[in-house]
Amino acid sequence: MAQDGTHASGSTQVTLYTIGYRGRKAVDLAKLLPAGTLVVDVRLNPYSPNPEWSTDIGRHLAAVGLDYRAERGLGNLDYKTGGIRIADPARVAAIVDELDERDVALLCACSASADCHRLEVARLVTAARPGTKILHIELPTRRAVLASEREQREQL
Ligand SMILES: [Zn+2]
Repeated sequence: MAQDGTHASGSTQVTLYTIGYRGRKAVDLAKLLPAGTLVVDVRLNPYSPNPEWSTDIGRHLAAVGLDYRAERGLGNLDYKTGGIRIADPARVAAIVDELDERDVALLCACSASADCHRLEVARLVTAARPGTKILHIELPTRRAVLASEREQREQL
């Protein structure tokens, strides 16, 4: 994975990443994603008790060289029941447009992509844009998750 942000300009090879923020900080995302990646928040409700992943999220990500946008239309209407129903699947077109320009990362809270609707969003993107390279960034260590949860409790 490119860590230095030097993407060959003119290259059409972009990557669609998927990542969960639980157990991570904005600065960790910057280590995992190339600089200039557009982080698309696909939570139905892009809020968290942790301000770093709530209303301040764009500022935190900008500080580490990542762009940010929320796409609530790509949120999961059935997240409370464990089902998956994308609110407005047509919003996938916005992701496809961005992939013509740069790398995109689908962001949700869930640590593992297997438990998350971002897998379905990624599938919709590849259906609309065949050949898109996808990289699911999986969960951090158990210890990192515990540390993050402890931190979150302290902030409440
Ligand atoms: Zn999720």
